[in-house]
Amino acid sequence: MKDLGIGLIGTGFMGKAHAIAYRTALSAFPDIPVPRLVMVADVTAEAAAKAAHQYGFETSTADWKQVIANPAVQVVSITTPNSFHKEMVLAALAAGKHVHCEKPLSPTLADSLEMVEAAEAKGVCTQVGFNYIKNPLLKMARDMVAAGELGVITGFRGIHAEDYMHDPQSPWTWRIDPSGGPGVVADLGSHIIGMARFLLGGIAEVNADIRTIISKRPVARGATEMKAVEVDDVARLLVQFERGCAGTIEANWVQTGRKMQLAFELTGEKGSLVFTQERLNELHFYKAGGDSRQMGFTKIEAGPQHEPYGGFCVAGGHQLGFNDLKTIEMAEFLGGIAKGKSAGPDFREAYEIQKVVEAALASSRQRSWIKV
Ligand code: NAD
Repeated sequence: MKDLGIGLIGTGFMGKAHAIAYRTALSAFPDIPVPRLVMVADVTAEAAAKAAHQYGFETSTADWKQVIANPAVQVVSITTPNSFHKEMVLAALAAGKHVHCEKPLSPTLADSLEMVEAAEAKGVCTQVGFNYIKNPLLKMARDMVAAGELGVITGFRGIHAEDYMHDPQSPWTWRIDPSGGPGVVADLGSHIIGMARFLLGGIAEVNADIRTIISKRPVARGATEMKAVEVDDVARLLVQFERGCAGTIEANWVQTGRKMQLAFELTGEKGSLVFTQERLNELHFYKAGGDSRQMGFTKIEAGPQHEPYGGFCVAGGHQLGFNDLKTIEMAEFLGGIAKGKSAGPDFREAYEIQKVVEAALASSRQRSWIKV
């Protein structure tokens, strides 16, 4: 397979990240199929044309169905608000395209299952935008857990906290419209739940407390008319992993001052790992049992010894960034298509993550433990 035609739907925050990733993937991963930027769509012809010019797409359209109908497009990236994902994904799958869809897969578990089953019936490759687990240091962390370097795992403390909703004057957007999903537990919670699953495997049971902190928001920026908020702002989960250990997971988009606290502490009998996306090129490792005078966390710094860092930079300590993680994600997606196997996380994994989200919502409503 020499090249793959890319169609992009949506050109906002994630649309731009996808475009940058497709453009740079080959320079870091020379063996993947060449991504050819064929067509981009947004709601207006102007926005689509601007994105085509800026990111180097051959054509643009204000009608997303044209992206899917384009025979030169083999891969469709869907970066629209959550409520549009299902219709766009099902149309792309029906046309036999490989599909990358941003997280969460859809606002409801039932719709996500329909999307999973449609993709599996078609046998195409799928991927969902859980970009943070593409960090080479997290792959190493997972390998260390799997190899038993931390011994029996005794606990996990995970959090994804940001503050983009902390201002009560921050207006209504698709993120707080219930048609887009339940709120932070799906928006940020899906990332930290996915990361917990990536590192430790399945979550069997949850007991959650999920709250709305800001009960009314202006209908638009600067408006005096207020609208009641129905989705959550903070979710706190006690979790029981299938492997036997327990832990806590928090998702919070009103954590004033926090911009990207996607972080965990993972503890085992023989050692611990500490990570935060705020310093994504560092993994802190504590190894138990050494000379007590020298005990402490070791800072492991990302470098070319942590594949695929070296594809971006030959020198350690120069650091990867958010867009590099997105590039790794897209390169793995395209490489997976060439091999005929999704690199993951695929639609099925996104559905498994969403099952934990749904169990947390049910648990908070019922004030009890719920099996996932
Ligand atoms: P955004 O509002 O910045 O961008 C959405 C884009 O979709 C806009 O350009 C909008 O005009 C376009 N759009 C809306 N309806 C459309 C339609 N019918 N046809 C074509 N284009 C349409 O939103 P965003 O922050 O980029 O979020 C989009 C998705 O990405 C969401 O699912 C969100 O949860 C996800 N997201 C993922 C991450 C991550 O880290 N992976 C980060 C942020 C957002």
